[in-house]
Order: sequence, then structure tokens, then C-alpha cells
Amino acid sequence: MHEFSVMSQIVDSILEEAKKRDARKIEQVDLEIGDYTMLGHEQMRFAFDVLAKDTILEGAELNITTRPGRVECSCGYEGSPSVSEDSPHKVVPILECPKCGGVAKIVAGRECIIRNIRLVVPDV
Ligand SMILES: [Zn+2]
Repeated sequence: MHEFSVMSQIVDSILEEAKKRDARKIEQVDLEIGDYTMLGHEQMRFAFDVLAKDTILEGAELNITTRPGRVECSCGYEGSPSVSEDSPHKVVPILECPKCGGVAKIVAGRECIIRNIRLVVPDV
């Protein structure tokens, strides 16, 4: 399950960051998931819950937002591709350049980013 391995890396880096700051608890995590990562948000939430269990991350609020993808085309176009959102088999989206109709290259939207982490740190 792809989501599990990705989320496992995310959880690891969050816990590492929290440890550096002596956090007692993590309250909230904001994630941005690229349009073309093919990661299901529900599966990501599920993986998060499982991986967070028995860590200071347990019970944290997880906010997931979609990071819009960008494409580049040999004709010079750069921006959003034309993709039919409701294509029945959305395994790999076919990205077309809206300008010339050619096959566009993905330049953004394949990443998964931790936007923000809210930690509870002990009073000094
Ligand atoms: Zn083009």
C-alpha cells in the first residue's frame, strides 16, 4: 500500500521534529498532497491513525489539502493541464496541454509536503 510507506516517512519526520523541540504532544498536522501523487486522502488518514498510535502524535488533527499540479509543454505553455476529473479509471491521468493538445510534462503536484505542525511544548 503506497499510502502507508509515504505516511510512514511523514510521521517519522514529524516525530523527529517534535523530538528536537521537546514537544510533549502534537496537536495538529497540515499536509499538502500533490494532485498527481495518486495518494488517496482517506487511505492517508487511515495510515496516519495507525502510525500515530502510541506516539505523541496520537489524536492529532490531520488536515489534508490538495496541492494543484502544474505542467509544462514543449510549445511553451506552463500552468494547469486539462484533465477530465471524472474519468472512470483515474489511475494515471492523461495530461494534455490546453494550448496545443500535446502531452504535457508534470512540473509540480507529485510531492507531499508538511505545511505546518502544531506542537505542545513544556513551559520553560
Ligand atoms: Zn502545448
